[in-house]
Amino acid sequence: PQLANQIAAGEVVERPASVVKELVENCLDAGATKIDIEVEKGGSKALIVRDNGKGIAKSELELALARHATSKVASLADLESILSFGFRGEALASISSVSRLTLSSRQQDASEAWQAYAEGRDMAVKVQPTAHPVGTTVEVVDLFFNTPARRRFLRADKTEFTHIEEQLKRIALAKEEIHFSLRHNDKLVRQYRPARNDRQRQQRLASICGSAFADRAFMLRSSNDDLALTGFLALDDDKARVSEVQYFYVNGRVVRDKLVNHAVRQALEEAGVAQAAGFVLYLTVDPHEVDVNVHPAKHEVRFHQARYVHDFILTALQQGLSQRTS
Ligand code: ADP
Ligand code: MG
Repeated sequence: PQLANQIAAGEVVERPASVVKELVENCLDAGATKIDIEVEKGGSKALIVRDNGKGIAKSELELALARHATSKVASLADLESILSFGFRGEALASISSVSRLTLSSRQQDASEAWQAYAEGRDMAVKVQPTAHPVGTTVEVVDLFFNTPARRRFLRADKTEFTHIEEQLKRIALAKEEIHFSLRHNDKLVRQYRPARNDRQRQQRLASICGSAFADRAFMLRSSNDDLALTGFLALDDDKARVSEVQYFYVNGRVVRDKLVNHAVRQALEEAGVAQAAGFVLYLTVDPHEVDVNVHPAKHEVRFHQARYVHDFILTALQQGLSQRTS
């Protein structure tokens, strides 16, 4: 099974940023409202993710590190409308097969906290008592220590850390109610505070996407019986200032889709706007109206009624643009 874990690790664990993605998604699944990430040396030395979620029972700790041991898919029908992020049950197994992984956790009603430790190929998981507040901490040390070919693929610490920042950005933009912090080599690099109103939303946008974008951004909000679009559009003469920010979320997941870029271009063209655009847009759609590619590394969607979705987004953008210029 260990070899299978390492093969699976190739798909799930491409680089430190993919570890961060999996660990943070687990925190979110566990209902955490505060997630703190510590990175050492671009993540090649250590990645630590702490949350204040519901924790893991002692009896589940070892299982959490076993392959296909997801606690999340109740039925196949669940897979169709993936509302929770985790559904494959192999992230922790994969990560622990290529690192030294410690999982520490305590549940709300538990009197004690417990820790499981697994290291590389020989997956004799040790479980012992520890001190830990309610919630979970996952420590991933020496990533790829036993897969030297993969370790050689790691880029400079700075580059790997940039990928981690980008990964966090995408998640933080989708989860405005969650408090995130990110440290690199003991230095606090990012802190995203929860947003509960439009003013805080604007502040959070500035801390995630930069003030150049946030200062030029205006809010969009539009819905009909089937679809809802919210988010921000920013325009500027200087392309460099805004157009690096282009994020499109469908039901809370960031996706790559030309449909939204096309709608933005068309809206600007028809409104006679010659400026460059950046955007953070959130589309809500009936999960049955969209196919999500279940490959972990891809972020593609297919809308059953692409034309309808496109035109809805176009109209929402047009409304936003006209309200802004009037
Ligand atoms: P999946 O998320 O697909 O279920 P993972 O390998 O990512 O698979 O996690 C395995 C299991 O470990 C989860 O189903 C969950 O029960 C538990 N788990 C992992 N991380 C956390 C966490 N931060 N808080 C609570 N439970 C967790
Ligand atoms: Mg998971």
